[in-house]
Amino acid sequence: MNYETVIGMEVHVELHTQSKMFCSCPADHFQIDANQHICPVCTAQPGALPVINGRAIELTVMTGMALGCEIRPHSVFARKNYVYPDLPKGYQVSQYELPLCEFGQLRIPGDGGIDKVIQIERVHLEEDTGKLLHQGNSSLVDYNRAGVPLMEIVTDASIRSADEAFMYVQKIRQLVRYLQASTGDMEKGAMRCEANISVRPEGVEEFGTKVEVKNLNSFRAVRNAIDYEVQRQIEVLSEGGAVRQVTMGWDESAAVTKEQRSKEFADDYRYFPEPDLLDVDVTAEWIDAVRRQLPELPDGRAQRFIESMQLGDDEAGLVCEDRAVADWFEAVVAAGADARAAANWITGELFRRLKDVDGAIEDVTVTPDQLAELIGLVTAGTISGSAAKEVFAVMWEQGGSPAQIVEAKGLQQVSDTGELESQVDAVIAEHTDAADKVRAGDSKPIQFLMGMVMRASKGKANPQMVQQLLRDKLQG
Ligand SMILES: [Zn+2]
Repeated sequence: MNYETVIGMEVHVELHTQSKMFCSCPADHFQIDANQHICPVCTAQPGALPVINGRAIELTVMTGMALGCEIRPHSVFARKNYVYPDLPKGYQVSQYELPLCEFGQLRIPGDGGIDKVIQIERVHLEEDTGKLLHQGNSSLVDYNRAGVPLMEIVTDASIRSADEAFMYVQKIRQLVRYLQASTGDMEKGAMRCEANISVRPEGVEEFGTKVEVKNLNSFRAVRNAIDYEVQRQIEVLSEGGAVRQVTMGWDESAAVTKEQRSKEFADDYRYFPEPDLLDVDVTAEWIDAVRRQLPELPDGRAQRFIESMQLGDDEAGLVCEDRAVADWFEAVVAAGADARAAANWITGELFRRLKDVDGAIEDVTVTPDQLAELIGLVTAGTISGSAAKEVFAVMWEQGGSPAQIVEAKGLQQVSDTGELESQVDAVIAEHTDAADKVRAGDSKPIQFLMGMVMRASKGKANPQMVQQLLRDKLQG
């Protein structure tokens, strides 16, 4: 029997704000000694009152807009009651019935070049919890992360495979980074995923029993955990068993999902509106003002590069993957470079070197103006493509202007007809067999003769001119 996989994703994204969700403590909690960024509000001291972080609301609404959501003019925060030591209040302030954003979509690449549309149910805002540190028989708690703004993006059950889930999560990260809403760094825990996974026999409409898998803290974990869990459920059903409704965790090192707790009794969080906070009422003018802050989004930007700059689909996708790279590319083009050549340099030579040093575009010392100048030297025929790579290597390692490097290393291409002609004549005289073959109508040895001229000129001869001269002399 064939089974169909049904997945819904929940992605938690830590927002990149200065301060926490309901107090003025710094939101940064990475590489800081335990319990330094805390105050009476985020540690739940009696009488402390929370105040909503306006920037967190803005970033959540921007994300909702980028996902095509409806923005609720009226939303409320609610208390989600549960007890855990990393939650000082004994409840988490979240949103339940009235989230900030609802009913959006995100497109991911689908079969046959047709996009697949993933439906977004809601985007809401809540606060993060603290962290437990287990040491031997005791546990310590660090509240630096308690109260950090956390945005949750929830899909419906429209995802059908681990690959789709993987692409969806990648697109979400790209989007929150474009919006500068979050660093999206999964390895640091700034983005964390959960998947609700079920399978059903093909053709059956009713959903199977779903299992929630938590701790998906890398792209690889998203793919591997879903693949594993789908296979596990199919095996249970194939053997005549029933899938139990449980919460599982992904054990990265063992590469298995492990049961954390049974969900046979639905969680009762006893949600109720947070009495210490005002409802969030936003006006149409405010929504318009936030909409004006939206940057050009990655898919639209790639489309523009394809249409107005003649980039290929893949190339445009690569250039737009990261907003800073796309900005850098546009700066090279603005400095006068041919767009396709610029994209070629960036996705080829530049990406290769960045990968070698595990660097980001922000670390590159070559400026967009310098790359544009280098491209200009190739276009004008001053240097060959291979010489340009040599120049780029020097620019990358030592800096400096392309023209000066070309001058210093004597890389100017020889485009002087007289000089090239004497080199071509010398090669023809030396390789009479090959030359005779070309004269007799076999054009293949032209490549060989060209290679000889390029070698004689130490790669500095203008290849187009050499080829033309050989044709004129032997075939003309
Ligand atoms: Zn605080």
